[in-house]
Amino acid sequence: MRTDTEGIVLKHIKTSYNRKMIVLFSRKYGKIRAGTSIGEKGKTKSSLALQSFTVGRYELFVSRDNYNIDAAEVLKTYYKISDDLDKFMYGSYVLEFTEKVLEENVARPKVFDLLIEFLNLLETRDKGIGTLVLAYQTKLLGHAGVMPELDKCTVCGRTMEKGAGDRFLSIDSGGVVCSKCAAERGTGRQEKTKTDALIYKDDFDIIDVIKYFAAVPLRKLENIALTETTGKELQQWIREYASYHLDVSNIKSEKLI
Ligand SMILES: [Zn+2]
Repeated sequence: MRTDTEGIVLKHIKTSYNRKMIVLFSRKYGKIRAGTSIGEKGKTKSSLALQSFTVGRYELFVSRDNYNIDAAEVLKTYYKISDDLDKFMYGSYVLEFTEKVLEENVARPKVFDLLIEFLNLLETRDKGIGTLVLAYQTKLLGHAGVMPELDKCTVCGRTMEKGAGDRFLSIDSGGVVCSKCAAERGTGRQEKTKTDALIYKDDFDIIDVIKYFAAVPLRKLENIALTETTGKELQQWIREYASYHLDVSNIKSEKLI
């Protein structure tokens, strides 16, 4: 069957004999592995569309679950991302993170749109890029079906409004834990320690930040930048949470940002 789809290249996998394999996030089919004979070098219309930070339209030949890219054309190239080291590293990290979160061969048009929105904002934004990445990741957790429960204690079910006492953010229970349950679990220390990596005290209103990121469109976060301390805390929480709930780990570009 011949078909075409919009897509973003998530990853290049090396192959031989003038054939290569790429991981494409296609709007129609979700994350797919696709082979192609389109040359990497040269400036043909098709080869440009196989570069990173490019949205393209890809002509596919589909046979069962095998995809081949017969031709491609560039719809948009994010020059300002590939030409700026910081943006390039954050962008690479987001593509790698997204690639690990997505299941293969499952269409995810909303995530596709979210990723496009992220890339558009990354290209034009000069401040608060780390915050933009965290907001994107928070939304991606929701699309992946593992948005943390933030309104009720995940152990006893007690409603956890702001000011209802200490709230702890747990990795393994999937959301907030009240101080009573945290104490019973033996993890109710005031400060998290290295040996207590699965639970965080809500020192910096991280719970409210996550709620806000989940609710507000990315483009509305234009003037928001988390403080460095809050940003780092949330970054670590997201990484551990994604690792625990989605098995997303060993992200190579993580060390760069
Ligand atoms: Zn509780």
